[in-house]
Amino acid sequence: MDGSSLDPDPAAWKPASIQNKLFIGGAWVDGVEGKTIDVLNPHDNSRITTIAAATAPDVDKAVEAAEKAFPAWSSMAAMDRGRLLLRLADRIEKEQAELGRLESLNTGHPFRDTQILDVPRTAVTYRYFGGMADKFEGSVIPVEAGFLNYLEREPVGIVGQIVPWNFPLMFTSWKMAPALAAGNCIVIKPSEITPLSTLRIAELMQEVGIPDGVVNVVPGYGHTAGARIAEHPDIGKIAFTGSTAVGQGIVRASAGNLKKVQLELGGKGANIVFEDASIPAAVGGSAFAIWHNQGQACIAGSRLILHESIADAFMEKFVSLTHSIRLGNPLDPATEMGPLTSRLHQQRVLDYCRAARDEGGEIVTGGETADDPALAKGCYVKPTIVKARPSDRVCQEEVFGPFVSVMTFKDDAEALAIANSTVYGLGSGLWTGNLHRAHKFARAIRAGMIWINSYKRVNPGSPFGGFGMSGYGREMGFEAMREYTHPKSVWVNVDAQIPPYYPR
Ligand code: NAD
Repeated sequence: MDGSSLDPDPAAWKPASIQNKLFIGGAWVDGVEGKTIDVLNPHDNSRITTIAAATAPDVDKAVEAAEKAFPAWSSMAAMDRGRLLLRLADRIEKEQAELGRLESLNTGHPFRDTQILDVPRTAVTYRYFGGMADKFEGSVIPVEAGFLNYLEREPVGIVGQIVPWNFPLMFTSWKMAPALAAGNCIVIKPSEITPLSTLRIAELMQEVGIPDGVVNVVPGYGHTAGARIAEHPDIGKIAFTGSTAVGQGIVRASAGNLKKVQLELGGKGANIVFEDASIPAAVGGSAFAIWHNQGQACIAGSRLILHESIADAFMEKFVSLTHSIRLGNPLDPATEMGPLTSRLHQQRVLDYCRAARDEGGEIVTGGETADDPALAKGCYVKPTIVKARPSDRVCQEEVFGPFVSVMTFKDDAEALAIANSTVYGLGSGLWTGNLHRAHKFARAIRAGMIWINSYKRVNPGSPFGGFGMSGYGREMGFEAMREYTHPKSVWVNVDAQIPPYYPR
C-alpha cells in the first residue's frame, strides 16, 4: 500500500489499497476454511473491506511457520535483530500520516491523536526495543568458591499475542517489539474489529527485512482463532490484552501446556482531585484522562473523585470544557472526539447510561447519541458525566466509553477508600500541591501505575500493567524483556573441591 488518493477533503480520505489476507510464513493467504469478516468504518458503519478470517487450522499453520523461523531468528546476533526493529521504526515514521489515517478510519480514534500520539508512540516502541536487543544482559551470581554461576535469558520460543480493538497500532508494538528483541517468533491475533493497521505493519516488517515466519498475523474471532492460540501446545507464552472475563478463560486454556501468561485486563481508574490542586491543570488533565479515544482506554480516568470543597468550582469548568469538545468524523483533523469503535460497543455504553439513571445517578450532561444528523449512522455517544455513589454499578464496572462517574470526598481516608473500592488496579491519578500527600497516596493506592499532577503518561521504558483483576505481568521496559524470556542458571565447576557425598 503506497501513497493514497489524498482528497482535498481529508474526511473523505480512502487508502489506495488495503491488505486483507492472513500473513503466514511470509505469504499473504486466505483462511483454510475460507471464512471472512467485514471490517466497518465506525463513523458511518460502511464497509471498509472484507478480510480473510483465521480459524484453528490457520493458527496451526502459523505456529508451524514460526517454529521453522525460530532457530535462525533466535540465534541471530542480537544487534542484527535490533537493527531490523530500528529500521521498522524509521519506516513507520516515514508513513506517519498514512498509518494515522488508516488507524482513524478503522478505530474511530481522531486523526489528530493517531497522528501525534499513536503513530509516534508505535515508532518509539520499536526503536526502544531495537536498542534494547543487545543491551539486555544476564548476570553472574556470587556462589560457593570454585564455581561460576551465570544467568542467561533465553527466548521463550513461539509466543501467542492477542490484542483488543482500542489501540491496535500501539498495543501490537508493545507486544511485538520486546518479543522480537528477545528472539521469539510470534503468532498475533488483532481484534476482528480493527485488524487493518496490524496487517499494514506486517507488510512494513517484510519490507524492512524481518525474515518470513518470524511474525505471523491471524486476524479472526476470539472463540476460534483466539481460543486456538490460547490452548496451542507449541505456544510457550501468551500475552493478552482485553477484558477480564476473556483473560480468565485464557488462563484456563493455557493450563494444558502450562504456558507463561501475561494479562493486561480491565480498569476503573481513580482520578482524585484534592482541595489544594491547581484547578485549571486538574480540569485539563482529567478531561484528557477520560475523553481521549472516547474513553475507550483501560487506564481511562473513569472515576473522578473530587474534594467536596472544590467540587462545584471544578465541575463548572469541567462541564464547560466537555461541552466544547468537537465530535465528528475521525479523519477530520479538527475532530476531538470520534465514534465508539463498534455498534455493539455503542449499545453497551448507552446501556450503562440507562443503568446510571435507574440507580438514581444524576446525568449532568450526555447520556445519548450525538445530535448532529451527519453523525447519525455512526457509533457516536456524547461525552457523559454522571454524579453517582461509589457502590453504584457505574462506579464499579468498566464502561469503557466517554462516560465518567463523579464522586466527592470529605477527607484523605475517604478518598483512599473510594480509590481502592473496585476489583481493578491498573492506572490512577491524583492532583495535589502537597508533596507528602502525593507520595503517601502513590504508596497506598492499589494500582500498577500512578500519575501525580498528570494522567495517562506512557513510555516504552516504563512498566505498564496492573494489580488484582487488571491482570499480571508487565509490558514495556526491562520488565517486558523478562516476560519474553526464560531465566537459565548455568553452574560451572571451575576448580571446586567437592568432598564426596558417598565416601567409599
Ligand atoms: P475482549 O476481551 O472481548 O477481546 C480482546 C481480544 O481477545 C480480541 O482480539 C478478541 O477477539 C479476543 N478474544 C475474545 N474471546 C476470546 C477467547 N475466548 N479466546 C481467545 N481470545 C479471545 O476485549 P475487547 O472488547 O476487544 O477490549 C476491551 C477490553 O480490553 C476492556 O475490558 C479493556 O479494559 C481491556 N483493555 C485492557 C488494556 C490493558 O492494558 N490492561 C488495554 C486495552 C484494553
